[in-house]
Amino acid sequence: CGIVGFVGREEAAPILLDGLSRLEYRGYDSAGIAVYNREKGLQVEKAKGRLQVLCDLVQGGSTVHGTLGLGHTRWATHGEPSDVNSHPQVSQGGRFAVVHNGIIENYVALREFLQSEGIRFASQTDTEVVAQLLEYYYDGDLLEAVVKTLSRIQGAYALGILCADCPDRLIAVRKDSPLILGFGQGAHFLASDVTALIKYTREVCYLDDGEIAELTPDHLWVYDSYLRPVEKEHHHVDWEI
Ligand code: GLU
Repeated sequence: CGIVGFVGREEAAPILLDGLSRLEYRGYDSAGIAVYNREKGLQVEKAKGRLQVLCDLVQGGSTVHGTLGLGHTRWATHGEPSDVNSHPQVSQGGRFAVVHNGIIENYVALREFLQSEGIRFASQTDTEVVAQLLEYYYDGDLLEAVVKTLSRIQGAYALGILCADCPDRLIAVRKDSPLILGFGQGAHFLASDVTALIKYTREVCYLDDGEIAELTPDHLWVYDSYLRPVEKEHHHVDWEI
């Protein structure tokens, strides 16, 4: 139900947990974060229940280190609220972590296809097919894997994507679900709601349906669904929270 993402030079976990706390008002049944660093790889912590359960699990963020990560609060639509069904959802090979708001309508057919290719599923969520498709299509080119995955999925989605092979970048995409990008000092953010970002930045842009954003600490690129660059208008958010 809520998404946050951070790529920069500071520890990501406290920023992600703070962002999630500002999205709590939207309602949720579970919460999770994925943080990457080169030594430990992908660290995924998630739990059914209040955000406080997750905060306690990661001791306020002090047990997971890295300057790149994603966070999620889930409002279950497919698969009961549980630790394993919480997001981030991770691909079988552990290369991709995905957070998702919305519903992948054709997930049953995609799941059957992937299972016929020998891929084993860990959760009951519709979201897991996105993580598994990304890994299935990934052959060294992250954006190509994203485009191929988007060509297969139907439904409504805002997605944050982290690939352990590309440890300096996040991908954000959306269709019929809101997603906002934020510009910081040597940092970029993504979120489903501007309230998650406002403590860190007031410079934002709104991703449109079908667009793909690539975020690194120093750059933010937006492409259309054919990977042609798109110039985005920046907005200044001047209201208080
Ligand atoms: N459909 C996804 C799930 O049930 C995402 C739900 C949400 O938007 O939080 O896991």
